[in-house]
Amino acid sequence: MKTRTKAVVIGGGIAGCSTLYHLTQEGWTDVMLLERDELTSGTTWHSAAQVTNFGMNQTMVGLKSHSIALYKELAEDPDYPINYHHGDGGIRLANTEAQMDGYRHFASMARGMGVHFEVIDAEECARRHPLISTDNLIGGLWDPMDGDIDPAQLCQALARRARRAGAEVHRFTPVTGLRQLQDDTWIVETSKGEIHTDVVINACGYRVNEVGAMMGVHHPVMSMEHQYFITEEIPGIVQAGHRMPLLRCPISDYYCRQEKTGLLIGFYEQDCKTWGMDGIDPNFTMDLCPDDLDRITDVLEGAFERMPALTEVGIKTVVNGPITYTIDGAPLVGPIPGKRNAFCIIGLRAGLGEGGGHGWLLAQQIVHGEACYDTWVLDPRRFTGHGNVELCALKAIEDYQNEFRFHFPHEHRPAGRPAKTTPLTPVLAAEGAEFTVVNGWERMEFLKPAPDFHETLGFRFNEVFDIVARDVKAVSEGVGLAEVNGFNRYEITGADAHGFLDRMICGRVTRKPGKVGLGYLLNHHGMIKSEATIANLPASHRGPDRIWYGSAAAAEQHDMDWLTHHLRPGEDVQIRSLTNDMTILVLAGPKARDVLSAVSRGDWSADAFPWLSVREGLVGIAPATVMSVSFSGELAYEIHVPNNQLYAAYLALRKAGKAHGLHLFGARAIESMRMEKGYLHWKADLLTEFDPFETGLERFVKLDKADFIGKSALEARVAKGPARRLVTLRIDATDRPATPGSSVLAGDRVAGTVTSGDWGHRVGMNLAYAFVEPALAAPGTNLHLDLIGDRIAAEVIAPCPYDPQNHRVSG
Ligand SMILES: Cc1cc2nc3c(=O)[nH]c(=O)nc-3n(C[C@H](O)[C@H](O)[C@H](O)COP(=O)(O)OP(=O)(O)OC[C@H]3O[C@@H](n4cnc5c(N)ncnc54)[C@H](O)[C@@H]3O)c2cc1C
Repeated sequence: MKTRTKAVVIGGGIAGCSTLYHLTQEGWTDVMLLERDELTSGTTWHSAAQVTNFGMNQTMVGLKSHSIALYKELAEDPDYPINYHHGDGGIRLANTEAQMDGYRHFASMARGMGVHFEVIDAEECARRHPLISTDNLIGGLWDPMDGDIDPAQLCQALARRARRAGAEVHRFTPVTGLRQLQDDTWIVETSKGEIHTDVVINACGYRVNEVGAMMGVHHPVMSMEHQYFITEEIPGIVQAGHRMPLLRCPISDYYCRQEKTGLLIGFYEQDCKTWGMDGIDPNFTMDLCPDDLDRITDVLEGAFERMPALTEVGIKTVVNGPITYTIDGAPLVGPIPGKRNAFCIIGLRAGLGEGGGHGWLLAQQIVHGEACYDTWVLDPRRFTGHGNVELCALKAIEDYQNEFRFHFPHEHRPAGRPAKTTPLTPVLAAEGAEFTVVNGWERMEFLKPAPDFHETLGFRFNEVFDIVARDVKAVSEGVGLAEVNGFNRYEITGADAHGFLDRMICGRVTRKPGKVGLGYLLNHHGMIKSEATIANLPASHRGPDRIWYGSAAAAEQHDMDWLTHHLRPGEDVQIRSLTNDMTILVLAGPKARDVLSAVSRGDWSADAFPWLSVREGLVGIAPATVMSVSFSGELAYEIHVPNNQLYAAYLALRKAGKAHGLHLFGARAIESMRMEKGYLHWKADLLTEFDPFETGLERFVKLDKADFIGKSALEARVAKGPARRLVTLRIDATDRPATPGSSVLAGDRVAGTVTSGDWGHRVGMNLAYAFVEPALAAPGTNLHLDLIGDRIAAEVIAPCPYDPQNHRVSG
């Protein structure tokens, strides 16, 4: 066993084997995999190993397509062929029209990734799967590439190819400790000695936190017991003369695939069980949990009703094994928060199908710093301080109970809520607030018209349309107040602070005291990494000259890692997070200045405090830092208040606002208004797949600056010309928004993808942003969108249809 290497992958299940193989494919061949037992001895060996192309977003669809292509290639390798049934097809069933709309949307989204799903009716489902009844069935989604693979053969094949490329694989080599050296390389302690490596990768399945603890981190990953059984031969299968398609059933919570001449059926019972929360027996390896078929009787009944043939055959084998879950159901694949040269590929609940793709995207991140797709949906930094194992257990149970019931737009399920609150949360709840969840924070969406109000979830406009219309009208004609909590905010100080930010941001960074500016951070490939509001706070009794760096709520750990990783030795820069200490109250609308002036001394006139200014003061008795910035397109103030005086500031504003008809509004109205202004959202429209020119942000780029991160790569991209362009679309539909991910069509060709969509109440237009082929980006271009299965006309319009000259923001 060598003692110096570039990367050590810990764990030899599908996650580890795939990562190792893909590292060699990306050019790192001096790499090792360490496995405490035999390869696949964790969860992988007993997996049902279905491989679907279905995903909830384009990154997931793309990575699953990679898995399928790779597995096909491995299966056809004459030197080491493996068993992979693909192309049997699979059906996700539905018994509600809302689910069918969802499938139509996912089909539109997948089309943009070159994947062709079909939405079929109940009769067609039964024609393709002769064992099922059509009772209580409307139809389903057909995935033509669905299949299953031999998990052990798959891992052996990947390990074999990695070895051939130069990698080492050491079985029966448990990692017992990890130490990081001054230069950020690692010492990996094993039962067979120490290895010095540049990078470590945790791929330890349900033992993720044993290895996490070795590097002082705790990952929000929880295991659930999960059972399937395999039946004896079913005559209907033998008679069919073709393999049965796979089934996934959100009606009765099971999946089913053919195994030899019987069926393998896995269950997601309501009475489910977490596993290993208080530690895992070190001898649990190549092992299973005890069978417990009593637990699944509720689900079994539904499966029997759908497939009566099941009642006529016996059960051959039962498997009950641990399967890992995260807080939002998606794995954690990427850099470990707060660490350097440390990555993870953990929390895989469908790791056999996805593992090929996850290892591919992770290897790209390790070797090149970024993957070909934006990987935020997988990024381990997307959960911040609240992401502990107890919350994860609650969400894992909820997720398990709803395994095939996808989340609708705006759906936030109740388990583990509230996780993060401010002193205003109960106050707004008492006012009748409906909340959304942003990085764990409960953020008000709108005020419910009645206490028992429930939004109809789906892919069409619903009752909330009129509520948002009311909120937007109140803000644009009078004044509104909204709490924006969790907004990420760092205080940056030190003599080199501005120079540092100048290097991090691709545009000019304002240095003027009392001024606010917007900047974009690029990665080393010249693509958009982050968006930051930079505010220069002059020295005061609250502190010395300071810069406030503000970014999206979810960016808290992401941006901190990016900034701190780029600090140079000896640079006089200190970065302190204020994210959890402060909250923003947004005062917006033509009467916002009147309300602010009534509660805060000083001259708030447009001359004394113009747009893009920052000033410290008091709002009532609460210390506040006020910025004249606007995400709504109206005259607006962001009032940043310490949480311990937030309620005081709120009361003062409410009292002063009474005379002006102050109206509480929330995130839904903000979303609608920002669409009319051409403002973009991080990780919806601002993605690492596009550079700032493609994203329409050229005015924020200064290529004549001495240097900034990503400059040379961006120059090369600019010379080549854009691959896509972000456009604003006006859509010819009044009953549905353009859900992100929907395909843009030019004729029958997919020519782009929607990133955001909502109704613009002030302009009376159904609006969307989409990245499209550059030749289609000119205003006036006529296109179509595939919106929940219908072809809807759309026209490219100039960005910012509401007050394009920004007269209103100055008041
Ligand atoms: C019953 C069941 C059915 C399933 N069906 C499907 C399905 O149909 N399709 C699908 O895609 N997925 C399915 N899954 C999920 C899938 O099997 C898992 O997502 C996948 O196997 C996880 O792989 P992994 O590599 O992350 O973890 P594991 O397979 O658990 O591998 C982790 C490895 O790390 C090793 N390790 C741990 N600690 C150390 C250490 N300190 N040093 C060295 N090595 C260490 C372990 O020994 C283990 O081999 C199923 C799971 C279960 C339980």
